[in-house]
Amino acid sequence: MLDVVPAFSRLGDENAFAVLARAAELQRQGRDIVNLGIGQPDFKTAPHIVEAAVKALRDGEHGYTPAAGIAPLREAVAADLNRRYGVEVSPERVLIVPGGKVTMHMAILMFGAPGIDILYPDPGFPIYRSMIEFTGARPVPIPMREANDFAFSAEETLALITPQTRLIILNSPANPTGGVTPSDEIDKLVAGLARFPDVAILSDEIYGQMTYDNHRHQTLLAYPEIGDRLILLDGWSKTYAMTGWRLGFSVWPQPLHEAARKLAVNSYSCVNAAAQFAGLAALTGPQDAVLAMVAEFDARRKIVVDGLNKLPGVRAATPKGAFYAFPNIAATGWKAKALAGALLEEAGVATIGGPDFGVHGESFIRVSYANSRENVARALARIADFLRAHAPGA
Ligand code: PMP
Repeated sequence: MLDVVPAFSRLGDENAFAVLARAAELQRQGRDIVNLGIGQPDFKTAPHIVEAAVKALRDGEHGYTPAAGIAPLREAVAADLNRRYGVEVSPERVLIVPGGKVTMHMAILMFGAPGIDILYPDPGFPIYRSMIEFTGARPVPIPMREANDFAFSAEETLALITPQTRLIILNSPANPTGGVTPSDEIDKLVAGLARFPDVAILSDEIYGQMTYDNHRHQTLLAYPEIGDRLILLDGWSKTYAMTGWRLGFSVWPQPLHEAARKLAVNSYSCVNAAAQFAGLAALTGPQDAVLAMVAEFDARRKIVVDGLNKLPGVRAATPKGAFYAFPNIAATGWKAKALAGALLEEAGVATIGGPDFGVHGESFIRVSYANSRENVARALARIADFLRAHAPGA
């Protein structure tokens, strides 16, 4: 057996993909499974976006593109950020990448090494911790607390910074909790970061266009004082229902942009050309499909939260963004991973156990409402039946 370098033994995984595979396997066996496990919109990419990719292929866009992405797309990203947030971003600082994940991969590679601390949200997207461990850096969890509405606490985050800290990862609106950090808390965090000029910030804003009620997404791009050390992660996957296209973008401080571009050249060369033309159509075309999708998520969110809160032993905060609910299941008597496993195998409902998102996820499960209202209602009824039949002591 060949041995790869030891860092690979520290590389983690994303259990959502394993749950998806298991759900598909059960379906092949003829079981009826409702999938509230996976984190992708159940909508199709809008037709005008698909057509732009087809046209690009027909027009002969079959070759390499510049590693940082085609110029019109980088310009469209800058214009889109200006439209959404009123910020000025030079297209020179934009990098087109094959999926939002690639930005975190690059950023963590740039700052992670033995002897370095990297702060990341817990519960949070599992790849943050996995990549931090891969680099040999020390992962320092920032607890995302139910009592704090799953928002970042500026005070708690700043208190975790050590002289070894080189990178802080922020994520709002958040996976897996649906938490949205209010702008006054982000103001405080940015003000506090003035004391730590050597600390870079990776702000994962991939759910930035998915907030509900009057909860506004506050972008870190709005703070010029950290512009020279901010990496913005965003992309098309969620907003435009394009997870399978593998298309994302990042904004880097200029020197880091050059490092990131070189990483691109040293790994994937450039993003699929036709996908880039699709991304251009997404940003420059009508946005009504985005608005309609978010309105539909909002309606489902209410159904999910109401339904979850009626379940015995379950308490669910109302998510403010993204398309996940993160109910606390401690009072059911179940451990989170065991419950998620039993719900899939016995009740035919796929969810993800909170510990897959970090130690602070114990007592929770993630329920994605990127599924039809009908399926969401069916899943809730099944979970209710299951919990009643398996009540502790029953
Ligand atoms: N960040 C967060 C918080 C996510 O939830 C996801 C996808 N689940 C990503 C990044 C990665 O997105 P992509 O599919 O574009 O790589």
